[in-house]
Amino acid sequence: MRRIVRVETGHYRIPLSHTLSDSTHGEMSAFELVTVRLYDDRGFEGVGFTYTVGYGGAAIRALIDHELTPLITESDAGRHELLWQSMWWRLHYVGRGGVAAFAVSAVDTALADLRGKWCAEPLWRLLGGTRERVPAYAGGVDLHFSIDELLAEIDGYLSDGFGAVKIKVGRDSLEEDVERVREVRRRLGYRFALMIDANMRWSVHTAVRAVESLRDQRLYWLEEPIEPDDEEGHSQLAELGIPIATGENLHTHAEFERMARRGRVAVLQPDVTNVGGVTAWMKVAHTAAARHIPVSSHGAHDIHVHLLAAVPNSSFLEVHRFGLDEFLSQPLVLRDGCVIPPGEPGLGLNFKWDALKEYAANRAGPV
Ligand SMILES: [Mg+2]
Repeated sequence: MRRIVRVETGHYRIPLSHTLSDSTHGEMSAFELVTVRLYDDRGFEGVGFTYTVGYGGAAIRALIDHELTPLITESDAGRHELLWQSMWWRLHYVGRGGVAAFAVSAVDTALADLRGKWCAEPLWRLLGGTRERVPAYAGGVDLHFSIDELLAEIDGYLSDGFGAVKIKVGRDSLEEDVERVREVRRRLGYRFALMIDANMRWSVHTAVRAVESLRDQRLYWLEEPIEPDDEEGHSQLAELGIPIATGENLHTHAEFERMARRGRVAVLQPDVTNVGGVTAWMKVAHTAAARHIPVSSHGAHDIHVHLLAAVPNSSFLEVHRFGLDEFLSQPLVLRDGCVIPPGEPGLGLNFKWDALKEYAANRAGPV
């Protein structure tokens, strides 16, 4: 038995190098990072994190500090599933998703990192090791960009070596969206994978109009066209013959199972930082595999590269603009459009904690 002896949390507000925007969250100038460091009685450390688009981080940290830390301290860190069940059910009445899922995610991910360190194996190998490289796409958060700015960003992705790109849609006018997609497609050519993401902005009716207007653009997928609770709406859109992707706003395994079964989506996108950590992410991936549905990711590419390299049914890894490169000693390795998972034990996340310090959020007040 290896006991958990200490849990430390951090809450940071990190400015973005430039403003990002999508149809639901508007313009974003910073994101929140909530970190967990678990220590066992043999001196091993497990690191995990979750993040927000600017709000909710203080509540997530408080749940970890006040509810989850006392629950798991002195527990056997090797009983990972039991700890996950304990955390989930401790917060179930106030949770079943929401900020509770974010809190459990950060702790569960730290437990997975810890296990990798015990075994001296990178997590992607420990969880299955299906592939040594994961195809990646650049996930733009660019709804407010002018077309010139958008195309300049696309050129940047191309020079970085990406083989696939996603842009935001969901402007007030569908005609503007269509024009933006056509301009980007023209720049990329038709052999390049292009995805679009409406961040839930549309009604089913508008989504149908969008699909009809963009049918000749050979989109790789249409992401979050409508609200995640409307499984029947997703099913209607699936009949139009365009691949529908969703998942970043589904925060339980059961929600994913229903979306796969009733929504008939083409790609599921569980996010390890909000679905309940590595334990829950793997369950979603296996549920998807049983239905022959590929899984992609949302944000947190430093963790998701391990998970997508582990499972057999993986699709593209999203490389996000909410990056942590500045605070990690080894930035992501992109080669020929693929990300190479790290070879270090566990997640291989070596945070520069000193560099993060200046972004620490104030516990006493709003961040
Ligand atoms: Mg998205």
